[in-house]
Amino acid sequence: MSASGSLLVDNIGELVTNSPDGRGPLGLRRDAALLVEDGRVAWVGSARDTPAADRRVDAGGAAVLPGFVDSHAHLVFAGDRAAEFAARMAGQPYTGGGIRTTVGATRAASDGELRATVRRLHAEALRQGTTTIEVKSGYGLTVADEARSLRIAAEVTDETTFLGAHVVPAEYADRPDDYVSLVCGPMLAAAAPHARWIDVFCERGAFDADHTRAILTCGRAVGLGVRVHANQLGPGPGVRLGVELEAASVDHCTHLDDADVDALAGGQTVATLLPGVEFSTRSPYPDARRLLDAGVTVALATDCNPGSSYTSSMPFCVALAVREMRMTPAEAVWAATAGGARALRRDDVGVLRPGARADLMILDAPSHLHLAYRPGVPLIRKVLHNGVPR
Ligand SMILES: [Zn+2]
Repeated sequence: MSASGSLLVDNIGELVTNSPDGRGPLGLRRDAALLVEDGRVAWVGSARDTPAADRRVDAGGAAVLPGFVDSHAHLVFAGDRAAEFAARMAGQPYTGGGIRTTVGATRAASDGELRATVRRLHAEALRQGTTTIEVKSGYGLTVADEARSLRIAAEVTDETTFLGAHVVPAEYADRPDDYVSLVCGPMLAAAAPHARWIDVFCERGAFDADHTRAILTCGRAVGLGVRVHANQLGPGPGVRLGVELEAASVDHCTHLDDADVDALAGGQTVATLLPGVEFSTRSPYPDARRLLDAGVTVALATDCNPGSSYTSSMPFCVALAVREMRMTPAEAVWAATAGGARALRRDDVGVLRPGARADLMILDAPSHLHLAYRPGVPLIRKVLHNGVPR
């Protein structure tokens, strides 16, 4: 379907704009309408004085929200780890070691197999309201496999992240310094043309503070934005290092001390929480309340990956954030839309105001509250992406 011509979405019972023009933290408007032109929001106002339009979508009094911004996903992989999940549910702890299983399967897969998985998961996320998604490499861990992972990711999104420093691959297990040199040298050179961001898994068993700093600094020097996987499995230096290097986001933030929270509160770095991981690994959730009360900007994302969180569902993450992390429904919806946009340093998504990208969803529900109130229910009735109904 073409995005040309104007499209009016009217009869909106509750419009979440995330704009200061509306009421409360979500910029709510009642009985609203919204005009789309050339893939952008052209007008937002009252349903009583709607402009003329070529086409019309009747929201039927339901809630309309900005599309979800999922700022953390690993979609380029082969194989699955359902048996590992079952073993974990039977009592085995999660260690992160299963990443190497997926690396082996990903290296062995054809381009066509990887592309099919990326497209399937991207379509799955879109059906659930995700209109912006970040996709990482990190299961190739060779120069050629990282570059092809990013090339394939770039076919579905502009938000691509080079994660050559996901784990040290088995063939470098006894010489991690050599692997860091590879990541900063030929691997970065091959990956950078296809990537907007660089990321490191800064964790015991993955990369320490010195390696993380070296890799992020190299990436920044060639123009990539910085993000960090930090403080997931235990306390560590990742969060403070991310803030120091002006990362757009530090992700996981499950094990934080007061200095970590103070650093986040005093910096520009978003704390992205990934509650699908704690759900799927049966681990304690991050303390979202502590971060919000300290004034930290919080985002929610899926961390969709075959090991620790095989969900593409942002509504599920919103429900977990409310039920398990003591976020209010408004805080969780903001974090899953505008918060994700902040984590990607974007001001054209996660918001519905004139000039923003016309990415939105119409719910089968009268209010954003239902996303947490009715967990597991397919409430996304219709999605517009770049103004085009999907
Ligand atoms: Zn991740």
